[in-house]
Amino acid sequence: MNDPLVSKIRACNTLPSLPTIAMEVLELAQKEEVDLQEIASTITRDPALAGKILKTVNSSFYSRTHAVSTVSHALVVMGLQSVKTLVLGFSLVSNLSGDRSKGFNHLLYWRRSIYSATAARVICERCNFVQQEEAFLAALLKDIGMLVLDRVLGDEYGQVLKSITEHESLADVERAGLGLTHADAGNILASSWKLPELYTVPILHHHSPETVSDPQLQKLTQLVWLAGRCADVFVDETPARAIATARKGIVDLLGCNETIADDLINVISKKTREVAGLFEINIGSNTDYSDILKRANEALIEVSLQTQMQASQLQVKNQELIQKATIDGLTGLSNRAHFDEFITQQFTRSVETGKPLSLILMDVDKFKSINDRFGHPAGDAVLKYLGKLLRDSARSTDLAARYGGEEMCLILPDTPRPIAAAVAESLRRAIEARPVAYQSLIMPITASLGVATFDRGVPFTQHAHLLKAADLAVYKAKHSGRNNVKIFTLPQASPKAA
Ligand code: GH3
Ligand code: MG
Ligand code: MG
Repeated sequence: MNDPLVSKIRACNTLPSLPTIAMEVLELAQKEEVDLQEIASTITRDPALAGKILKTVNSSFYSRTHAVSTVSHALVVMGLQSVKTLVLGFSLVSNLSGDRSKGFNHLLYWRRSIYSATAARVICERCNFVQQEEAFLAALLKDIGMLVLDRVLGDEYGQVLKSITEHESLADVERAGLGLTHADAGNILASSWKLPELYTVPILHHHSPETVSDPQLQKLTQLVWLAGRCADVFVDETPARAIATARKGIVDLLGCNETIADDLINVISKKTREVAGLFEINIGSNTDYSDILKRANEALIEVSLQTQMQASQLQVKNQELIQKATIDGLTGLSNRAHFDEFITQQFTRSVETGKPLSLILMDVDKFKSINDRFGHPAGDAVLKYLGKLLRDSARSTDLAARYGGEEMCLILPDTPRPIAAAVAESLRRAIEARPVAYQSLIMPITASLGVATFDRGVPFTQHAHLLKAADLAVYKAKHSGRNNVKIFTLPQASPKAA
């Protein structure tokens, strides 16, 4: 973070302050024995505030069947949390919305805040999230750091804001240009107000909810983030991306379809008109969601095409990564890691099913001398050729792998010893029969192969025993003059090459 700027924010004496009445109510609400009557009379000391709270409580936003006529009545029927939220919200908004400075569009700021707050509450209600009031206030305050940066940096911040058309990119642009985001600045202010974590965490992380570790706070922050995207639909200059993101966010959250998501955004639009009236915030005339959708239509198609393209590019990339992680680049055979995974799985399966599992291990004879005589690239060409030969001889259920330098292998599930031996012998013959051609070179090659099988009566207890047995068979083949196949058999209980 930009430390000098943090110090500058901390030292700034014109930062927004928490209104006295809000501070008093917060303090009273935090006492061990809460006195509702005292809270009610504190609020009623400000008749304008009390009036706004009653109007809100009786509005369709809270959909109460009976009218509430006093603050103490509101505290009883609505609960302390709802009333506290409204006190904080109203007193902060009326305290701060009088600000005017050039370069910073206060109207847009408050428009976004009230849309966010309403959206948060509507979404929480729809997904039965209990902390609806907290979400309302956290969303109302989430961008308060923008007011801080405006006061501390003035025109410099105005320039940063000028360069963006979508709020979602603001934090990244701020981080790049200022070394600090409005979320960081908001957190500094909210912490200095001693607001609880329920507000400071969503304020600090509302552009990156995934970084919150506590699950409940993460959910709250996620909802505040989504509320912000819903607000952007009505506030952003080019809202297509916000529409796409808000829709997807709602679909993912509620497990619904896009039509239901659009209906919910419509509800947010209607409710915000009402709440904005109560908070005396001018939300302008651009409030009809279907109009916004119509205007954004072309850009929206472009955004969804882009998203689809990104998704399919990602899929290709993932496939490439999987391929890279499992395939040996030179021979096209499975690599050692994939071999280990496959043989482990197959061994377990064989133990469970009682079906035989065979392994053929192949080692090129005197391969070092091929490199020495013809050069390393020629040696590579031999390995490539053998890789193809092995892949071609593998059935779909087998796995052909490069075990090490010039050692290759074939894992044959459900295959008894005589069949594996026959496969090994035909491989040996094919290799012997055809010298490898590379550029003008003709290189005769041979290989030694070892075969081992895990079957009934074979006392292997892990795949490593099968591997060791195949290795011993190769060793035996080498010592019997190379260019031959040896089959591991068990003369006694301990593994030994025949
Ligand atoms: P043996 O018949 O006893 O198996 O003799 P060998 O020469 O094949 O055995 P050794 O294990 O001594 O030598 C294997 C050689 O394989 C040594 C190493 O340089 C070479 N090698 C390993 N990986 C590669 C590769 O990717 N490309 C090439 N060209 N050579 C490789
Ligand atoms: Mg060799
Ligand atoms: Mg070797």
